[in-house]
Amino acid sequence: MSRSEPIVILKRGREKSLLRRHPWVFSGAVGRVKGSPEPGQTADVVASDGRFLGRGAYCPSSQIRVRIWAFDQQQITREFFARKLAAAIGRRQAQLAVAEGACRLVHGESDGLPGLVIDRYGQYLVAQFLTAGTERWKQDIVAILAELVPCRGIFERSDAAVRAKEGLAPVKGVLWGREPPRRLIIEQAGIKILVDVHNGHKTGFYLDQAENRPLVAGYCRGKTVLNCFSYTGGFSLAALAAGAAHVTSIDSSKAVLDTAGRNLELNGFDPSRADFVNGNVFDVLRKYRDQGRRFDMVILDPPKFVESYNHLKKASRAYKDINLQAMRIISPEGMLATFSCSGLIEPALFQKIVFDASLDAGRQACIIRRFSQAEDHPVALNFPEGAYLKGLLCIVE
Ligand code: SAH
Repeated sequence: MSRSEPIVILKRGREKSLLRRHPWVFSGAVGRVKGSPEPGQTADVVASDGRFLGRGAYCPSSQIRVRIWAFDQQQITREFFARKLAAAIGRRQAQLAVAEGACRLVHGESDGLPGLVIDRYGQYLVAQFLTAGTERWKQDIVAILAELVPCRGIFERSDAAVRAKEGLAPVKGVLWGREPPRRLIIEQAGIKILVDVHNGHKTGFYLDQAENRPLVAGYCRGKTVLNCFSYTGGFSLAALAAGAAHVTSIDSSKAVLDTAGRNLELNGFDPSRADFVNGNVFDVLRKYRDQGRRFDMVILDPPKFVESYNHLKKASRAYKDINLQAMRIISPEGMLATFSCSGLIEPALFQKIVFDASLDAGRQACIIRRFSQAEDHPVALNFPEGAYLKGLLCIVE
């Protein structure tokens, strides 16, 4: 380390979370900064007594002032990123082997690379550089990826709102190689899916639900299914492939339902087995109840309702409401597959919300299965915030 490198000195007693290898240093823990690090520049973090704690990317505008790259004194260089990326990709070799497969190759903090997301869709990689630190190393990361993963192109989808907190503008476009086609086809669990990596949600598809779709579908044979918040039909297609009698998909976006319809054709499913409803789930569920409609299986996979603690109460009410409305239209001995991708709603709270919904609906329910995020979205033990997706499969008497 050269003497001129910036040093972040923590307030007394604020080193505890770093000693437990948590990768975030909040602004409130910072006593003073020696030197004047630029956004994304590497800085050492030391305790108030000067003890070395870690080395990470500094961001002056973010509440998360430093994100730790390493808890030891290794140099943060292009070789550091080459090692980390090779390790993350090495763990996903089995998934990479599937030619048109899709998977997450780098899952941020849990792969030791805070703020970096790399998803693979067949022959293309889609990257999100969500922090000042990843932004600063972008060119190196792209060059390393191009060497490590055989692909036709690397596309950037750093147009997520969180970038603003790091003082970064949204960016989108080709980083390396060819531009991905507007309609890329991937294959998951034997099902073909159109993915729009240019404009789709996140990097184009909800890869975190990959393992849960066939699991839920396994209970859908011969059943009538209502897939709420369907996006491009991930759960609907899995249910149809598993022999569901009929699947209704609801989403508030007409564009994603059009893709869902195309996905149905692409897989050769009989169109009479599926309906697409463009509407607000909160309203449509009430309408179905008033009409006396019943479904054997209801799937609820809403978007993240909670962005911060301030919204926790309101979001809990929203989760309760959809679960309550769903339970009111489930046939006797039917099923509910219900999810939450809000990290701030912990599994115990989510279970309580679903229980409260069952009480209000006057339905006895029991859990027969619990879901979490797919294995390519790992949770580092030193970063419990990485566990965000949870779900319950309930029988509703
Ligand atoms: N289950 C999907 C992912 C769901 S993402 C999958 O397996 O891929 C959440 C979806 O909910 C988005 O497509 C979004 O357009 C939709 N959405 C958000 N709020 C909604 C609302 N109030 N009513 C209906 N759809 C909504």
